[in-house]
Amino acid sequence: MEGKNIKGFGTKIIHSGHEFRNEFGALSTPIYQTSTFCFKSVEEGMDIFAGKKAGYAYTRGGNPTIASLEKRIATLENGEECIVTSSGMGAISGVLLGILKNGDHLLCGECVYGCTDYIITHMLPRFGIEITFVDTSKVEDIEKNIKPNTKMIYFESITNPTMVITDIKSVAEVAHKHNVLVTVDNTFAPPPQICPISEGADFTVHSCTKYINGHGDVISGAIIGKKEVLDVIRRETTSKLLGTTPSPFEAFLMIRGLETMELRMARHCENGMAVAKFLESKDCVKKVYYPGLESHEQHTLAKNLLKGNYGGMLAFELNDKVNGINGFDACKKMINNLKIFSIAVSLGDPASLIQHPASMTHANITAEERKKAKISDSLIRISCGLENSEDLINDLNQAFECI
Ligand code: PLP
Repeated sequence: MEGKNIKGFGTKIIHSGHEFRNEFGALSTPIYQTSTFCFKSVEEGMDIFAGKKAGYAYTRGGNPTIASLEKRIATLENGEECIVTSSGMGAISGVLLGILKNGDHLLCGECVYGCTDYIITHMLPRFGIEITFVDTSKVEDIEKNIKPNTKMIYFESITNPTMVITDIKSVAEVAHKHNVLVTVDNTFAPPPQICPISEGADFTVHSCTKYINGHGDVISGAIIGKKEVLDVIRRETTSKLLGTTPSPFEAFLMIRGLETMELRMARHCENGMAVAKFLESKDCVKKVYYPGLESHEQHTLAKNLLKGNYGGMLAFELNDKVNGINGFDACKKMINNLKIFSIAVSLGDPASLIQHPASMTHANITAEERKKAKISDSLIRISCGLENSEDLINDLNQAFECI
C-alpha cells in the first residue's frame, strides 16, 4: 500500500497484501495450494530454515496465500501482525497458551463463548494458571481483582447473547498501569464497529468464521497484535507446533470475503437497526438487546465506541406469556414459523440466522447459570444477514402472528 495515500477503510482492505500476488501479474491473490516449497539449492534451504532469508518451506509454518490474508486482517484491525488459524478456537487457545505460563493469573470476562469458557475453566488450571472471572463492563471491578501475578485480561468486546459492551479504552488504561496485557475477542463487532487495538488492547482475536469471511463457508480464526510477540506465538505455539494453520484455499475464500467487508458491514448494521426498532414496537416483546437503541443500558458508551455502526447482532425477549403460551413454547412456535430466517447458530452470514439460546447454545449450562447470565427461556438471538430489511421484518411479523 506504500505510496498510495489511502485513508478509506474499504480501499485499505482491498489494496493490502498485494505483495503476495505472483510474477504473472495476477490481480487476485493466487491459491498456493501446496504442502511444500522447493529450494533452488541446499544453501538456500539452509538460509530459509535458519531465518536468514525470507521464503517458505512448508505450509504448516507459512504460505503466501495465508500471508496475504494475514496482512489484510492486520490492516483491518490496525495491528502490526496477524496469525490466521484454522478456527476461532485455534486463535483463542493460541493466544492463551502462547502467553500464559505456570503461576500466572488470568482475569476473564464473566460472559465468554462456551468453548472459551471451557478452556479457561478446565484446561488452563491444568497448567497451573489461576483464573478469576469478572464483569469487565465494570472497570472498578477489574482493578480490585488485579494481583501481582495477573498477566492478562481476556474479554469479548460485545457479549453473546445479551450484548453487554466493555469500555476497552478504560480497561486498557487500568490494565497497563499494572503491566497486564489486554486481549479482546472482537468476533461480534469487527471494524468498522470496534477496533480494540486502536482502543488500547494488546491482542485482538477473531472467529473469522463469522463477519471476516462473511459467507458462511469457512471455519477460521485470527490473532492480531505486535509482531515481536506474534512471531514467538507462531513459532512456539499455534501454526508450526499445534498445527492450527488453515488451508490456502480457505485463506483465498477469506481474502475474497474481506474485499466486500465494508459494504457487508454497512448492510448488517442497517438491517440490525431496522429489525431492532421493529421488535421494540411489538407488544409481545418485553425487551430488545441492541446497542443502537436508546433503551440499551450502555447506549452512551455504544454511541462513542461504535460510532453509528451498531451491527447485525441482537437479542430479544418475549413476554413471559404470549396468548396464554409460556415464553419457552412461544419462542419455539415463533421460530418454527419463520420462512426467511434460518434456524442456526453462528453469525455474520449473508443469510439471517435465528436461535434460541436456552435450548441451543446455552442448553448445556445450568438454569441457575443461565439466570445469572440473564438468558431467560424467552430470549431469542438474531444475526441479521444481508437480505432486504422489509422482508426480514415481514417474516418476523407473520411468525409473531402464528403464536
Ligand atoms: N468467539 C466467539 C464470540 C464465538 O461466537 C465463537 C463461535 O461461535 C468463537 C469464538 C469460536 O470460533 P470458531 O467456531 O471459529 O472456532
